[in-house]
Amino acid sequence: MPAIPTYFQTAMPAISLPSDAPQQTTTLPIRKHEFPTPTLRLHLQDLSHDGSSIFLSNIKGSEDLEQQCQNVLNLLYDHDSIRPGTRSVTFVLRAYDGLAYTTGIDLDQDHKEIHINLDYLLKIRGDVRHELLGVICHELVHCFQWAAEGTANGGLIEGMADYVRLNAGLSAEHWKKEAGGDWDGGYQHTGYFLQHLEEKLGKGTVKKINAGLREGQYDEKKLFKSCCGGKEVGELWEEYRNDLEKKQKEDGKEEKPSGTEEAKIIPTDTPPKFEGTK
Ligand SMILES: [Zn+2]
Repeated sequence: MPAIPTYFQTAMPAISLPSDAPQQTTTLPIRKHEFPTPTLRLHLQDLSHDGSSIFLSNIKGSEDLEQQCQNVLNLLYDHDSIRPGTRSVTFVLRAYDGLAYTTGIDLDQDHKEIHINLDYLLKIRGDVRHELLGVICHELVHCFQWAAEGTANGGLIEGMADYVRLNAGLSAEHWKKEAGGDWDGGYQHTGYFLQHLEEKLGKGTVKKINAGLREGQYDEKKLFKSCCGGKEVGELWEEYRNDLEKKQKEDGKEEKPSGTEEAKIIPTDTPPKFEGTK
């Protein structure tokens, strides 16, 4: 029985200021193919909680959730790709300690639950709809991505989720490209690296990496060599860092040398947790 991963997002201190601008988040026109959408359900644990009103006034259930499913599927798969058999996604809004996470139900992993913390919804500053759609998009990736039967590198899994969020036009305000640290720092740090691979090595590279996680145990060397022109991930990361540092120097924003305090990764989430591991 493969380990069942549960992926978490936790709160990031708000650094953006509240904006008076009208909410007008739209997503990019990336829906080339219409995939079958799983059954989508919404469970509000406490209607009297202010977070419930925030959710209901910002998210149009009949359109937004389905649209984010389509965005995620279009960014991860071609129309004829083999996809996980996700049959339903239930959004569970309840107050708990955290931001959001995705899990499968015990009886059947094809039924997913995305839990979103109602208290967190009260704390969002700036464009609430944009942030909320971003969180939903990120979590939906966990409902549809491959994960090498639960053995994949957690940083890659989280990076894939933020790569999709980025390409769905839903990146967060505090995100930035970072050349420091390791390639698998996760979230937007790894998401921007995947974006670089997609641009450098060709459209479909990230879809190939996702497809490479479909069967068997995680084999990093084999995965990147087969998807990225025979190169290992360390080499690709080095190239990305060099490219980024060069670009930042040209733009007059000199990057601090890697490995220093200043160059460390800004965490936006906690790493995924796998059953049976610490
Ligand atoms: Zn995640």
